[in-house]
Amino acid sequence: MSTYSDLVLDGEESDILDRMGVYGTKTYPSSPGQCVECKGNDLKALEILGALNKPLFWLCRGCGYLHMIYTREYTTERLMKAEPLFTHPDFWIKNGVD
Ligand SMILES: [Zn+2]
Repeated sequence: MSTYSDLVLDGEESDILDRMGVYGTKTYPSSPGQCVECKGNDLKALEILGALNKPLFWLCRGCGYLHMIYTREYTTERLMKAEPLFTHPDFWIKNGVD
């Protein structure tokens, strides 16, 4: 198991997943095997502390792209559960997301 540093969020985006650089609705219940962004094949299951006790994303260790495992709606719901644990809560409450 590896531990990564805090996710970096773009405070200008309005949607919580947009802020993480996750766009669209495509999901990957099992690993896509290859990053859809950079075509790299170093993908790891990424668990978000406080959101869910199992991985929410397949993280590309080459470019950092996050592939959603669950639907956008469910992923957002789980991420919002982790909101109090984020170290930059300002990014989470800007632009009307609550
Ligand atoms: Zn990649």
